[in-house]
Amino acid sequence: MSQPLSNKRVLVTAGPTREAIDPVRYISNHSSGKMGYAIAGDFLEKGAEVWLVSGPVSVSIDTHPALKVFHVTSAQEMYAVCLKLFPQTDIAVFAAAVADYRPETIAYQKIKKKEDSFSVRMVKNPDIAFAFGKMKNDRQLSVGFALETNDELTNAIAKLRAKNFDMVVLNSTNDKNATFGYDTNKVTIVKNDFTQLLFPLKSKSEVAKDVVAAVADLVIQDHKAEVSGVGKI
Ligand code: C5P
Repeated sequence: MSQPLSNKRVLVTAGPTREAIDPVRYISNHSSGKMGYAIAGDFLEKGAEVWLVSGPVSVSIDTHPALKVFHVTSAQEMYAVCLKLFPQTDIAVFAAAVADYRPETIAYQKIKKKEDSFSVRMVKNPDIAFAFGKMKNDRQLSVGFALETNDELTNAIAKLRAKNFDMVVLNSTNDKNATFGYDTNKVTIVKNDFTQLLFPLKSKSEVAKDVVAAVADLVIQDHKAEVSGVGKI
């Protein structure tokens, strides 16, 4: 039997974005990109074609004939690249920690140290996962990540609905040795029928395998529904 993910084109966003303040400074976050890169690697192992759209990271991925990497810096750049790729995407996994806001203006020259304080007005960045959720068709699947500090499950379900995800991978900052920078992660996968898969603390490469296996299950379910004429709920 052919693998459920062969012939599937998967878009994975990974890493942080950097939002420039002036030519030498930026606002960003602690995302290492490890989770997204591990997911991209496992999709390749399972026979999928992968488009990895990555913010600035120090992790790397081995070259592979079915892999294309798009390097971007800011959220607006990541959004522009993804918009072009969305129509040809079967499965989108949004693992990037996209900055929600960016400075409204980027100073032309390095900001000089003069005043005791200064303000940077921030404006909202485009939500890449939300955009895909709005435009995706019945054959396209999307997976989001939810990093929460409190009311984890409620917030993850709200994200699932708002961004029209088929599945959300929830991780909490309250779990030790999980999330930003660590090589390990502890996740709960919440599906769009609100069933949950709870996993123990694992290496990010093992978590990636769990995420990819859950996506493969969704693909099989969708295929069965299509064959029996039930369609997607
Ligand atoms: O709302 P929140 O940022 O917590 O949602 C997280 C999910 O949405 C992640 O999957 C993240 O990659 C995605 N996201 C995005 N574009 C944004 C913000 C978040 O794709 N601007």
